[in-house]
Amino acid sequence: MATLGPATDDPKVLDGIIQAGVDVVRINFSHGEPAEHQRRVEAVRNRARAHGRQVGVLADLQGPKIRIDRFKDGSVILAEGDQFVLDANWPATEGNRERVGLTYKELPNDVNRGDTLLLDDGRIVLWVEKVEAGEIVCKVMVSGKLSNNKGINRQGGGLSAAALTDKDMADIKTAAALEADYLAVSFPRCADDIHLARKLLREAGGQGDIVAKIERAEAVQAIEEILAATDAVMVARGDLGVEIGDAELPAVQKNIIRLARSMNRVVITATQMMESMIENPIPTRAEVFDVANAVLDGTDAVMLSAETAAGKYPVKAVAAMDRICREAEKQPIAMVSDHRLNTRFGRTDEAIAMAAMYTANHLGVRAIASLTESGSTPLWMSRISSGIPIYALTPHVATRRKVTLYRGVYPVSFKVETTDHAVVNKEAVDELVRRGAVRDGDLVIITKGDLMGVHGGTNAMKIVRVGDMFTGSD
Ligand code: PGA
Ligand code: MN
Repeated sequence: MATLGPATDDPKVLDGIIQAGVDVVRINFSHGEPAEHQRRVEAVRNRARAHGRQVGVLADLQGPKIRIDRFKDGSVILAEGDQFVLDANWPATEGNRERVGLTYKELPNDVNRGDTLLLDDGRIVLWVEKVEAGEIVCKVMVSGKLSNNKGINRQGGGLSAAALTDKDMADIKTAAALEADYLAVSFPRCADDIHLARKLLREAGGQGDIVAKIERAEAVQAIEEILAATDAVMVARGDLGVEIGDAELPAVQKNIIRLARSMNRVVITATQMMESMIENPIPTRAEVFDVANAVLDGTDAVMLSAETAAGKYPVKAVAAMDRICREAEKQPIAMVSDHRLNTRFGRTDEAIAMAAMYTANHLGVRAIASLTESGSTPLWMSRISSGIPIYALTPHVATRRKVTLYRGVYPVSFKVETTDHAVVNKEAVDELVRRGAVRDGDLVIITKGDLMGVHGGTNAMKIVRVGDMFTGSD
């Protein structure tokens, strides 16, 4: 997954990242105007079509990121031991070495003497000496340059801002108009934040799925209820690391990924994955390991931020990620699974999905062809680690775009025009042969419903050998 920005506006770069393996692009409402996002989304869809690819779109809301206002001179240098005041009543553009304004006027009500505030992702650390009349008087503990509009986090979390701002509500309408496949909610605290975002998206006519960005300490506490409410989560390591501490991140990432998969949710791992590639054409060894480890943890997607949006080597960053993911997916530990071993299935289609994966893992099939309307069956299948490609065959473009985020699932445009199941099976297999996914002698599992065209109708699994096609009427 790659974030779009000025660096990907160059048509050669956009073509390059699509060819290098991007499955989903992120448009970031923290920067830019609706017209700019619309232009980018149109360009991606046009170029994806030109390359015969399907690329999903994730629209990422800015959320209530708490920020300082601006400085008269753009930035100041703070020295250790200095006093520095965050002042809710200070004019927006008049910041100086002594004080700066706040975009979130309620902040002084949320902090107390003794709190630690982290500015600019923790590059500047302030200790709160006292709070009075809208002023937060701080002592500088970690010094450095502080520039306009940098973010503020409180160590340990607990800032009260509601998850959806007025700007977010307007941006949800834009996301709906863009037919975004996913809407990412920034800084949600609880399930209600997710329910509200989905409700507003539906009211605006959007059909996308919801991604809850886990980037507050509270969200880690409420992870199970948030997972139950959402379709997908993002391990948003940038803001989350600032709130809970960087040393806690690896364990939290592993837990969120494991829990998300066990609850049949999709998971994205994000931020600083290839950070050094903003400036350099090759990743560090540590970055190679980080991407590979996220894949081994079971993530569906790994995300690039500034590496593609504003970096010097966006195409090389995507190509490096693609190469590392493919290799990591081949590792045996990425292929074993105890998913739902001890649970009862609530639905026939889920049971078929699980039976297909059990069979696939134990029989040795080359590919799985899932004829699907909504994409649920391939989603369930992809919660099982197998390393076996799952082709989602569907006539619906919205489903083809949605499954781009699912690990190991590949969208295929496929229309069923007959009620003869033997003909449908043959057409499905022929389609995989055409793509070079399977060849004569390979085993393929096909899943589908009796009544094709019905959501949730998958009730059958068939194992076929390519080349031995049959003309019976099953
Ligand atoms: P952002 O979210 O890039 O929108 O800040 C991701 C993160 O915080 O890691
Ligand atoms: Mn964030």
